[in-house]
Amino acid sequence: MPDIASPVPDFTKWPSFPFEGDLRVKQLDNPVEKEPERKGEDAADCSACNAPDEAYIWVSERWRVRAMDRPTGLPMVLILESRSHLDLGDLPNLLAAELGVMTVRLERAVRSLDGVARVHVNRWGDGSAHLHMWFLARPYGRLQLRGTFLSLWDDILPPISEARWRESLALVAAWLAEFGGKPLAEPPRIEWQAPSSLVQQAEAEAAGLALAEEADDTSVAFVESPADEASVDEEAEAVDADEKPDDAVLADPVEDSTEDEEAATVDLAVPVVPTQPSSGPGDSDAPDAKPALASNAAPQGAAT
Ligand SMILES: [Zn+2]
Repeated sequence: MPDIASPVPDFTKWPSFPFEGDLRVKQLDNPVEKEPERKGEDAADCSACNAPDEAYIWVSERWRVRAMDRPTGLPMVLILESRSHLDLGDLPNLLAAELGVMTVRLERAVRSLDGVARVHVNRWGDGSAHLHMWFLARPYGRLQLRGTFLSLWDDILPPISEARWRESLALVAAWLAEFGGKPLAEPPRIEWQAPSSLVQQAEAEAAGLALAEEADDTSVAFVESPADEASVDEEAEAVDADEKPDDAVLADPVEDSTEDEEAATVDLAVPVVPTQPSSGPGDSDAPDAKPALASNAAPQGAAT
């Protein structure tokens, strides 16, 4: 470890590096002999294990997805957790295979949101013991946010609006629920284009407005998608043949290795990317090809 000031590395000159001005490398502490326990090493003290399903935006038998407690600078930041108190390297084969499927599924759900160009998937695991994978959405067009420093920018950029955040959470939850599990995030009970007073919002809630009645165009795809209660066969039939993604095969490992109903539906109900109606099935391999996003959804909540 350097005892004298090291020259700052080249990445400080990258366009994506969030800071400028005079920088110097911090002196490293001596390594400790024994590392402290992470938060929640014991399941009894684990905040994830002790959190009710209501703290999540979507839950299933073995997985849960949660959001931050408030909007942040990026269009979406989500955390995927196993329901079991395990860390990444402890996952049995079933959960390991499902983690792959869930990672792909959640990446696609977040990338389908308006104004999202890419989804960064991270697992650090230095803070809390319970497995938690981070999904960070990089705003479309914000080239300076590409790469390593996206999680830093999340704290730097002004938070996105509460309404947009809740709408996006509901969309992701609905997307995931297409494959099973239970969506717990609901869309904001307001007219999307017309700001409502709190009184109007309360009245709308009292009226029990359904998602279909207030959804904007981006929500319609979900409303018109196979209903949760549809059987596996019905779901398969309801998805037009030309809308089935080529890469539905991604789900195969879990289908082969599990027998429960949720896993069996994995490869049948891959929803159409709702914000890219003009894109073909191959769009999942070409996230840059999002003309609809570029034209109708300028990145929000991003600083200049
Ligand atoms: Zn736990």
